[in-house]
Amino acid sequence: MVMRVILAQPRGFCAGVERAIEIVERAIRLYGPPVYVRHEIVHNKRVVEDLKAKGAVFVEELNEVPKGAITVFSAHGVSQRVEDTARERSLPVIDATCPLVAKVHKEGQRYAEKDYEVVLIGHEGHPEVEGTMGRIPGKVHLVSTPQDVTTLEVSDPSKLSYVTQTTLSVDDTREVIEALKVRFPKIVGPDVKDICYATQNRQAAVRELAREVDVILVVGAQNSSNSNRLREIGTEMGVPSYLIDDAAALDPAWLKGADAVGITAGASAPEDLVQELIGRLRALDTGIDVEVLDGIQENVQFKLPEELRDVAM
Ligand code: SF4
Repeated sequence: MVMRVILAQPRGFCAGVERAIEIVERAIRLYGPPVYVRHEIVHNKRVVEDLKAKGAVFVEELNEVPKGAITVFSAHGVSQRVEDTARERSLPVIDATCPLVAKVHKEGQRYAEKDYEVVLIGHEGHPEVEGTMGRIPGKVHLVSTPQDVTTLEVSDPSKLSYVTQTTLSVDDTREVIEALKVRFPKIVGPDVKDICYATQNRQAAVRELAREVDVILVVGAQNSSNSNRLREIGTEMGVPSYLIDDAAALDPAWLKGADAVGITAGASAPEDLVQELIGRLRALDTGIDVEVLDGIQENVQFKLPEELRDVAM
């Protein structure tokens, strides 16, 4: 029997990831290799390896960057301390922070200017969360779950605000916001509007996909926040869902008895990886029929930093 393979729409690269990759590629073109990139530019091994081959050098801390070398900040954003360190070391910086992450930084800063304490809803240790916490002057409290809200201690409940990480689960975040509102009725914040369009669209698409298939494969890195949420949503919808780095990570046993297999990809996973996975499914099965679900066509584009706009590619 022919197995149906259904692709979610949209899936894969978002505008912020495309922009970040293009920034590194154009910087290498303009200034020549090597170009230093602080932290994985986006959470994907394939993307990182491709850029390494072109002349990018990935570092975790700025003290690994030679004096004066071109330095790119990743799409996740960085704290003020990192920016200050770059200035102290006279590093020429190109900032690939996604404009939607930068928007959250500004939002938090505006609250802090008005003497509000800020609650950041996000995952501890994620680079975006570290960057955002380090951009907001004053007290920032990190919470991830409604449970965290119960133990939260703030100085003045009437001057409290919240912002969120961009790549969270829309439903889980609503629950945390509800818990905050119950405990601190005067809290102000953007509802789930900080969760970016790409995250929301991919989550909605995987929900649609879950209605059609017996198993879901999410292509994305294990440390990618938005990819993990896609797998969780599939599982919550009652469909066995697996997050895999690439086609090689597929276990054929997962497909046993499945008539329809759904595929989606996190915002940092290139379409090549999806196509390779389809290739592996084709090699495993006697026949597959590939279709794409109807869904949102995204046409979001972010401007490149001015110095890179005219670089011929
Ligand atoms: S997932 Fe959203 S916030 Fe993150 S880089 Fe993509 S568009 Fe920007």
